[in-house]
Amino acid sequence: MAAPTSRPAAVRGPALSFTGDPFHDGLEATMVHEPDAIVAMAEGRITHFGPASRIAPLLPAGTEVRDYGRDALISAGFIDTHVHYPQTPMIASHGAQLLDWLNKYTFPTELKFADKVFARDVARLFLRENLRNGITTSCVYCTVHPQSVDALFEEAEALGLRLAAGKVLMDRNAPDALLDTAQSGYDESQALIQKWHGRGRLLYAITPRFAGTSTSGQLAAAGALWREHSDCLMQTHIAESRDEVAWIKELFPERRNYLDVYDHHGLCGARAVFGHGIWLDEPEMQRLHESGAAIAHCPTSNFFLGSGAFDLTRAVRKERPVRVGLGTDIGAGTSFSILATLDAAYKASQLNRQSLSAAHAYYLATRGSARALYLDDKVGSLAAGMEADLVVLDMRSTPLIDARMAGAKDFAEQLFIQMTLGDDRAVQATYVAGRLAYARELVAAPPPSPSP
Ligand SMILES: [Zn+2]
Repeated sequence: MAAPTSRPAAVRGPALSFTGDPFHDGLEATMVHEPDAIVAMAEGRITHFGPASRIAPLLPAGTEVRDYGRDALISAGFIDTHVHYPQTPMIASHGAQLLDWLNKYTFPTELKFADKVFARDVARLFLRENLRNGITTSCVYCTVHPQSVDALFEEAEALGLRLAAGKVLMDRNAPDALLDTAQSGYDESQALIQKWHGRGRLLYAITPRFAGTSTSGQLAAAGALWREHSDCLMQTHIAESRDEVAWIKELFPERRNYLDVYDHHGLCGARAVFGHGIWLDEPEMQRLHESGAAIAHCPTSNFFLGSGAFDLTRAVRKERPVRVGLGTDIGAGTSFSILATLDAAYKASQLNRQSLSAAHAYYLATRGSARALYLDDKVGSLAAGMEADLVVLDMRSTPLIDARMAGAKDFAEQLFIQMTLGDDRAVQATYVAGRLAYARELVAAPPPSPSP
């Protein structure tokens, strides 16, 4: 990772942000596109955001303004609402669907996180990839080992990131060495909450992996823990594949539906983040809506495992909107790039015969995901008082994008080109709490290959 070498107090360039939910209130009322903006930062927060002509005279004398030029786009940092850092080493593993994939690839990899040194190395790789892709906040699954949580939080703290994470709870249907018990999982999570939750910008997420790997006793213990620490997040998986839904029905025949398995154990409400939710039925959507729980939409993962195409339009329906965030779901997800993830989200909508606009997609990756995590008063948009986490895109990052941009007729088309063709090369800078944490230009070029 490039070492931070400068501390600009302000950045200048075209900017995009949202003041509300465009799925609910329309783009006109919620989207702010400023062709020449200044975002000024001090002590980790945004102090000013607006047209450069208005903001420039307000800046304290001597403020260093970094001008990224008119081919840039400044946005709130991207947010990943569902990701497994321990699966970074097994991304791109071939040929299985969800339940097989867990047994064949995931569990063997997660066993290695008993070793704290290994965990720390992967945590560093994971966070470096986040910053290279403009991701400044993520909601992360660790493994069953408490030291895997310590390793990630220690690295995130050193970078000053706002990040949520938790120890996975599993007391059945996984290798013995990856199992805890209802009691030990509760105790270890409790200790991790006391150590990390609310320390700096870090947050704890109570993390039963899913109903297939937790007994009713463990789900109840997780529910009790969340009641005692209701300002923690709670994350789990739901209705990702049809085989999984059928299996959960066999495991919990007495429950009305999949969501009711969690709800019954006190695991549904504000700050709950349910990964996937492709196969939820209407009563489950209704319950998510009224409880304030969120779905993490993970389209690259859903396509990779052949799980299905999440119907975003249905989830955010105006009569009973469900909070929806975006997730990479590494390592079933195939890219750390949020742009690539938005490309897949567009395709998931296409398969549902809906058309996701580029601006709605960018909302999903920023403020929408912040709202899913109940962090929209802190991150996810550009406004005075918000935490100063930013991504600066280069809208001309490859020769093909450059050529295609020449023919773009408006801003909506420019945005769509980025999410369809862009990747990590489009991220030219990432700021964390007002500090330059990644700059593309500072990454050393690879040494020239020897001549033949
Ligand atoms: Zn997942």
